[in-house]
Amino acid sequence: MTPISFEFFPPKTDEQREQLDRTAGKLRRHDPSFVSVTFGAGGSTLSYTPETVRRLRERFVLDAAPHVSCMGGSREEIRKLLKLYRALGCRRILALRGDLPSGMARSGDFRFAAELVEFIRAEHGDWFRIEVACYPEMHPQAEDAFADLRHFKAKMDAGADAAITQYFYNADAYFRFVEAARAIGVTQPIVPGIMPISNFGQIRRFSEQCGAEIPRWFLKRMQAYGDDVDSIRDFAADFVADLCRRLVDGGAPELHFYTLNLARPTQAVLARLG
Ligand code: FAD
Repeated sequence: MTPISFEFFPPKTDEQREQLDRTAGKLRRHDPSFVSVTFGAGGSTLSYTPETVRRLRERFVLDAAPHVSCMGGSREEIRKLLKLYRALGCRRILALRGDLPSGMARSGDFRFAAELVEFIRAEHGDWFRIEVACYPEMHPQAEDAFADLRHFKAKMDAGADAAITQYFYNADAYFRFVEAARAIGVTQPIVPGIMPISNFGQIRRFSEQCGAEIPRWFLKRMQAYGDDVDSIRDFAADFVADLCRRLVDGGAPELHFYTLNLARPTQAVLARLG
């Protein structure tokens, strides 16, 4: 059985908190190896992320790992955050550069995620397992795909234990990326990030921002369903489950699901995978 893990975002309102509780309660039955909690761009969830990590660890007995993004942050701020997570019992962290919200100009002490990985290792040795992000379809700001790959290798060499990919819907993008990474000496696991589809309009918008390609044939079929919500849900779940099957058959070590704090789309995919 391939291990699975889930990503959540930190709720800010009581209503969102209740929704996350319902989702975490349902998804924990699938025995995830860990769950991760995102960090708002430019530190906009500075207190919500630790609070959510604590809640998931204490209330749901899940191995909850925080995302820590360094863009705009100072060494001292990150130092405090790492201390807090260590005190909460966390042994793993997803280390990111992050993005600044538009209009926010704050340079901070770190330029790239590789510098954050180095900083965590220098401050805490091997206490934390460190995961980083990678981009089978290239990070949108990279000069080109090879430069992005070299920067990814530098990030792994700085001390990362594994990488989780941006989501994609084209299995070949993942396989080619893994092959290219192995060819330049990346040996750590590269875990595909999977985005189940609940709201197709939203996924189209996300995909334009992050550069994930939606296959034309799939897009056309989704459009053809019009308002037939049940067919859209079923077809999208079949599509994502098929992607997962291909990834696992092709050697993916684990599947990391971007849940958007909803249980149903992820469970629909998992049900199809048996
Ligand atoms: P980096 O690895 O630093 O790369 C950023 C860009 O800089 C790339 O284009 C890279 O090629 C380039 N680069 C790297 N090093 C150099 C160098 N030495 N010289 C020149 N260029 C260089 N965002 C959030 O705000 N919060 C989250 O919780 C969050 N979670 C995420 C989880 C996953 C699994 C993924 C895939 C992404 C997540 N993101 C999150 C988005 C991420 O923060 C953005 O994609 C961000 O723009 C890049 O972060 P990074 O850590 O990949 O950056």
